[in-house]
Amino acid sequence: MNPITQVIRATRPIYRKLSTSAPVAAAAKPLPTTGMCFELSEEQKALQDLARKFTREEIVPVAAQYDKTGEYPWPIVKKAWEVGLMNGHIPEHCGGTGLLGVFEDCLIGEEMAFGCAGIYNVMGGSHLGQMPVIIAGNKEQQKKYLGRLIEEPIVAAYCVTEPGAGSDVAGVKTRAEKKGDEWIINGQKMWITNGGVANWYFVLARTNPDPKCPASKAFTGFIVEREWAGVTPGRKEQNMGQRASDTRGITFEDVRVPKENVLIGEGAGFKIAMGAFDKTRPPVAAGATGLAQRALTEATKYALERKTFGVPIARHQAVAFMLADMAIGVETARLAWMRAAWMADYGIRNTVLASVAKCHASEIANKAAADAVQIFGGNGFNTDYPVEKLMRDAKIYQIYEGTSQIQRLIISREILNNAMQSN
Ligand SMILES: Cc1cc2nc3c(=O)[nH]c(=O)nc-3n(C[C@H](O)[C@H](O)[C@H](O)COP(=O)(O)OP(=O)(O)OC[C@H]3O[C@@H](n4cnc5c(N)ncnc54)[C@H](O)[C@@H]3O)c2cc1C
Repeated sequence: MNPITQVIRATRPIYRKLSTSAPVAAAAKPLPTTGMCFELSEEQKALQDLARKFTREEIVPVAAQYDKTGEYPWPIVKKAWEVGLMNGHIPEHCGGTGLLGVFEDCLIGEEMAFGCAGIYNVMGGSHLGQMPVIIAGNKEQQKKYLGRLIEEPIVAAYCVTEPGAGSDVAGVKTRAEKKGDEWIINGQKMWITNGGVANWYFVLARTNPDPKCPASKAFTGFIVEREWAGVTPGRKEQNMGQRASDTRGITFEDVRVPKENVLIGEGAGFKIAMGAFDKTRPPVAAGATGLAQRALTEATKYALERKTFGVPIARHQAVAFMLADMAIGVETARLAWMRAAWMADYGIRNTVLASVAKCHASEIANKAAADAVQIFGGNGFNTDYPVEKLMRDAKIYQIYEGTSQIQRLIISREILNNAMQSN
């Protein structure tokens, strides 16, 4: 039994169980009967401590090296898998523990992204690939594909974006045609995290060619194995930041997919692909919060060491106030992901709060990283110091899993719909 399972099992035997009907959606926990509480449980604290220790010992010392080489961090993935920091949400009928909820995934994510947002993104990308199978897979699909991730340290990926369709998911052109008991997929995906290393992918494809067919019925979600004929990942993209992460285009050419690998059924794909974000945007927000916390930690330390005009720069109010602003950002970003994750675990619709958390935390991460570079002065611009990496790593938080503009679109639509309904 890995350390995390031991910690949680010792204090609470069954954290979360799954329903038995197909598709097997994760059952929400019953709402607590007591009021607001900002204290983590004992097992959550222990989990956070483990993730923190793992990050300080295994990630922080090698983060700069992975950033420089762009190598995939397999040794860290393997260690994280061994100690139970990956896949804790995979249910028991797949061989997992099913012990961790979105909230606990976020606790781990914040700690790991403190060490390296790129290395955390490797785990987050796999989590994103798994989520459609968790929310919409039947028992056989879950057992086969989630079970694999328990048996060995491998990862999954989520293939939705294409060269011509990112924010506008309904513009996806990859198509799947039914031939007998199989579907034939043809198309091109782009910017896929874990694209070159994943064992299997969630793939969204158009199955109704009629342009008048609404998005909610036009697309189907498939589980596609990396080794199947016709699946060809492209070169690893050279990105600005989060360089340990593997991002690629993938070509699907006459890929034959058995009908057993369709999630829910024909036409259900768009809702599955979008529904996954309710559970994956809070962990992205938690990652951005971890990065912002790292910026604050590094900047505080430096501000106390570096002297100008005979005093540590922390004594200059202009610098101290930058630290204060960073702390304000970290605290509010943390509360935002906590609320969104908590709602996901209790089965409360959290689409808007997940967007609030993702949008806010990603902007806080960018501001905190830029301010940390400013506090480091010339040293902040140099790769011998840790903060320029933070600034490069932060930018993508405003782009992937829905840009900040798309998050605002989701939030403003809800406000306006509510206002119109109440008129
Ligand atoms: C490193 C990396 C990893 C990624 N990982 C994955 C992955 O694992 N799986 C996956 O499927 N995708 C992944 N993506 C893709 C990512 O989700 C998209 O890049 C993102 O959704 C934006 O799409 P786009 O790049 O096509 O930009 P576009 O959609 O072309 O947007 C360009 C600009 O226009 C703005 N814009 C677009 N529409 C609107 C609108 N209606 N209102 C206001 N502004 C708008 C956008 O906010 C943006 O600023 C990844 C991308 C990167 C760079």
